[in-house]
Amino acid sequence: MKKELLPAEKRLPDNNGFFGRFGGSFVQPELQKQMDEIAHAYHTICRSHNFVQDLRNIRKHFQGRPTPVYYCKNLTEKVGGARIYLKREDLNHTGAHKLNHCMGEGLLAKYLGKKKLIAETGAGQHGVALATAGAYFGIPVEIHMGEVDIQKEYPNVMRMKVLGAKVVSVTRGDKTLKEAVDSAFESYLEDPVNSIYCIGSVLGPHPFPLLVREFQRVIGIEAREQFFEMTGEMPDNICACVGGGSNAAGFFHAFIDDPVEIYGVEPLGRGTKLGEHACSLAYGTEGIMHGFNSIMLKDAGGNPAPVYSAASGLDYPSVGPEHAYWHEIGREKAVQINDDEAVTAFFQLSRLEGIIPALESAHAVAFATKLAKERPTESILVNLSGRGDKDLDFVMEKFGKYAEREY
Ligand SMILES: *Cc1c(COP(=O)(O)O)cnc(C)c1O
Repeated sequence: MKKELLPAEKRLPDNNGFFGRFGGSFVQPELQKQMDEIAHAYHTICRSHNFVQDLRNIRKHFQGRPTPVYYCKNLTEKVGGARIYLKREDLNHTGAHKLNHCMGEGLLAKYLGKKKLIAETGAGQHGVALATAGAYFGIPVEIHMGEVDIQKEYPNVMRMKVLGAKVVSVTRGDKTLKEAVDSAFESYLEDPVNSIYCIGSVLGPHPFPLLVREFQRVIGIEAREQFFEMTGEMPDNICACVGGGSNAAGFFHAFIDDPVEIYGVEPLGRGTKLGEHACSLAYGTEGIMHGFNSIMLKDAGGNPAPVYSAASGLDYPSVGPEHAYWHEIGREKAVQINDDEAVTAFFQLSRLEGIIPALESAHAVAFATKLAKERPTESILVNLSGRGDKDLDFVMEKFGKYAEREY
């Protein structure tokens, strides 16, 4: 593959939704019709002046954007290396980046006259964000969630119910995110004309990886401008946690053509054994799942492998096709952070900066503190994808000993 013959990275995916070999749409003909409709809607409605204006207004007055970029003075001094900065998506309304694409998907549903929003959720953050969008736009919401995640993230289940969403408990298989995706797709296929599937990350058949990245791109666009205004330069390094990869894709996209090192931080969970982590980029192989071609973790039979991370928003056995592409061409480096390192960063950021990060985001913070020691003269901009309130009970129950340590 000759690199100079490739279209500029920023112009991907192509018309069929491919980022190199990755992405595309591998679904049954009936669903393909709906995907074509949504792709058409993206290229017409979402690119119209009215839509762009509406979304801009919502972001400013409802979501509270722009979210700030913040210099972590105490953490930087403690670690003793590169300057560490955070893009504060934890301050986005509902406490995470997911509202960025949910408000976009909700607005598109409104323009299309859809009567129901359907989605899956892992940590519950996407469910809460979509339930919020549904309340805002006055469209009913149905959220599919694994039974295990319902127990682990119960406060988010209550938030969804308070916001008026219907929560469907998924009891098949491992009862987590992977099964919730299957269940949500089945429900969508029952009435794809009146409902719309609002995927929770840069995953699924074309045009979802494109659609979600475009709605998340606001993170990178803001952060790049804010960092430059604050420091007069580009960051040397940027990093974000990668589950499906939406916060990372929206953040990285703005920096793709810049002389900036890009790190996608994957959850190493309890170790490198299959089933103990969810590092799709590092340990996965090419395959098709949930309607798209990407890098995925497979079991001996070639099916999606069970995955694990203390951060339930990261335990997905594949990754967005754009990340698979960036990783393959060497633009994005995949790095790994385990549970212990993530929980340590969770407490470190809380104690030193007064910011309780989501366990997912704590993976990115943990990597930044490691890299900082190796690159003492550089800067690192971390996307802090969400706040940790949802994780408090889980962390204190499972990792309570960490609270007694000095940071
Ligand atoms: C869901 C979630 C993630 C992982 O999703 P991506 O699509 O990889 O961004 C990361 N951080 C938080 C706070 C989340 O809620």
